[in-house]
Amino acid sequence: CGIVGYIGTEDSKEILLRGLEKLEYRGYDSAGIAVVNNEGVHVFKEKGRIAELRQAVDNSVVAPAGIGHTRWATHGVPSQENAHPHQSTSGRFTLVHNGVIENYAILKREYLQDVTFKSETDTEVIVQLIEKIAAEGLDVEEAFRKTVSLLHGSYALALVDNKDKNTIYVAKNKSPLLVGVGEGFNVVASDAMAMLQVTDQYVELMDKETVIVTKEGVTIKTLDGEVVERAPYTAELDA
Ligand code: GLU
Repeated sequence: CGIVGYIGTEDSKEILLRGLEKLEYRGYDSAGIAVVNNEGVHVFKEKGRIAELRQAVDNSVVAPAGIGHTRWATHGVPSQENAHPHQSTSGRFTLVHNGVIENYAILKREYLQDVTFKSETDTEVIVQLIEKIAAEGLDVEEAFRKTVSLLHGSYALALVDNKDKNTIYVAKNKSPLLVGVGEGFNVVASDAMAMLQVTDQYVELMDKETVIVTKEGVTIKTLDGEVVERAPYTAELDA
């Protein structure tokens, strides 16, 4: 399973699909992408191979930002409904997740009694919680960090907001995730290999860090909102 993300000036679809193909070796049962442009977010997801996802993608949609996912089901059967990305009820937020949220049932009971869920995944709890907290008046970055601080378990997360094609929100704990740095674009990947075709400069992330990724820059913050400075390293393709 794996995650990719791209934000820049080129169309993101092919970059994401190629990145996901590079992560196929990790194993998966479904795959999906979400891309954001001026019209909002467009989600394509399928049970099965990335070749099938390619068939499902509408090539007329052009978008400079997006996130992608291969799923290895832990909560809920492999199906189109349970495939990522997952969306909040209003459709505003779209999320991909690798890992397991151990307290998802508690979070659901405590905060999301009134929400009708579309999937059986632990992941959907995260995106519904972001929507709920953002609706209370926090800005997206704060709502994202507050939600992440409520999660117990393992996660690599990438989130997009359909009102903002200029930002990808990222977080990680006990699941691999890197941010790749380019000129005029930045990327996200579970494994540098997924995005080596676009950049070889990567920034390592520590557990419980969040990242605001735009095409101009990468800002790492702790869950308390403190900025962390970390230089990129050069990733090499090992034989
Ligand atoms: N726990 C999530 C699910 O079952 C994510 C699984 C994964 O890491 O792909 O959908």
